[in-house]
Amino acid sequence: MKKSLNVFDNVLDLIGNTPLIKLNKMTQDFDGEFYAKVESFNPGHSSKDRIALFIINEAERQGILKPGDTIIETTSGNTGFSIAMVSIIKGYNCILAVSSKSSADKIDMLKSMGAQVYVCPAHVSADDPRSYYMVAKRLHEEIKGSVYINQYFNQLNIDAHYRSTGPEIWQQTEGKITHLIACSGTGGTISGTARYLKEQNPNINIIGVDAYGSVLQKYHETGEFDEKEIYPYRIEGLGKNLIPTATDFKIIDRFIKVTDESSAHTAREISRTEGLFVGYTSGAVMQAIKQLNEDGTFKKGDKVVAIFPDHGSRYMSKVYSDKWMQEQGFFDSKSEVSETIQYI
Ligand code: PMP
Repeated sequence: MKKSLNVFDNVLDLIGNTPLIKLNKMTQDFDGEFYAKVESFNPGHSSKDRIALFIINEAERQGILKPGDTIIETTSGNTGFSIAMVSIIKGYNCILAVSSKSSADKIDMLKSMGAQVYVCPAHVSADDPRSYYMVAKRLHEEIKGSVYINQYFNQLNIDAHYRSTGPEIWQQTEGKITHLIACSGTGGTISGTARYLKEQNPNINIIGVDAYGSVLQKYHETGEFDEKEIYPYRIEGLGKNLIPTATDFKIIDRFIKVTDESSAHTAREISRTEGLFVGYTSGAVMQAIKQLNEDGTFKKGDKVVAIFPDHGSRYMSKVYSDKWMQEQGFFDSKSEVSETIQYI
C-alpha cells in the first residue's frame, strides 16, 4: 500500500510523526518561540502508542511473544489503550491493572478496546499486594506465556522515544531547539527524547515537569528518596511515588513542580485559546512554561518545545467537567462556570 497516498496497511502505520504546532496566543508576551509536540495525533491519541508498538515489536523480534500470548501492564490508562490497540492488530490478549485514580472514561475506553481491566487502589504503597504493580506482577507469574511490559522499569521505554520522538523534534526544529519541557511519569518520554537531542546538541535545556505529592524533583536534587514528599494529587500520569529506572535523571537539567489546580485551568485555557483539545498533563507542561517564563528562563530567539502527551477527550469527567472543577474547589466563584444555554 502507498503511504504517499495516505493509504495504510493498518492503524499501527500511523504511529509517530506527530505535528509540531506553534503556540501563538498563550505565549505571545513571552520571549522566544513556543511549539507543542501534539501527541494526541497518534492513532491511540497519546505518546504511549510509540512505546507500546516499539516494546511489542522488540519482544517479537527476540522471539518472546507468540500469537495468542498475553500482554500485561500497569497503566494510568494511556499505555493500556495503546497496548490494547497494538494487541488487537497483532493478535494478543491484553490485561491491564490500572489505578483507581484513572478517570471512568479511560477505564471504559480500555474495555472498549478489548482489554481485561483490574482497577487497583491508588493510595497504597507500591509494595502493597493491592497496588497495581503487585497485581500485574502476580498475574504475570500466574499466566504462562505472558509478557509484562513494566514501563516504569523497562529501558525500551526510553529507547522508543530515543528512536522516534527525539529525531522528529530535531528535524522539525531544524536543529534549532533550545529547551525541551516534558512531563515525567515513567520518565521514558523525557529521557529518550533528551538523550537523542543532547547527542545532537549538549546545550539543549531539558526541563522535567513534576507534581506536588511526587518524589521526582527532590530525588533529582538530592539523590534522596523522601517519603515525606508523597501525598495524593489529582493529575494522572505525571510524577511518581517511587523512582522509575525508565527515568535517566542525569540527562534532565532540572525539574519544576506544578499544582493540580493551575494545571487544570491551564489545560482548559489551551483548548480555549489555541484550539487544541488536550489532556491534564498538557496543562501541566504549559503551566510549567508560564512559571519558567516568570522566572526569566527564556530569552529572545529561544525555540522551546513542549510535549503535549494526550487528548482532552480522556478528561471529560474531570478537567473538562465544570462540576468536577467545582468539587475540587478549583473554581473561586460560580461565575467561572460556563453556562449552557437551553434553547427550548
Ligand atoms: N501524561 C500522561 C497523560 C501520561 O499518561 C503519561 C505517562 N504516565 C505522561 C504524561 C508521562 O510520560 P512518561 O511516562 O513517558 O514520563
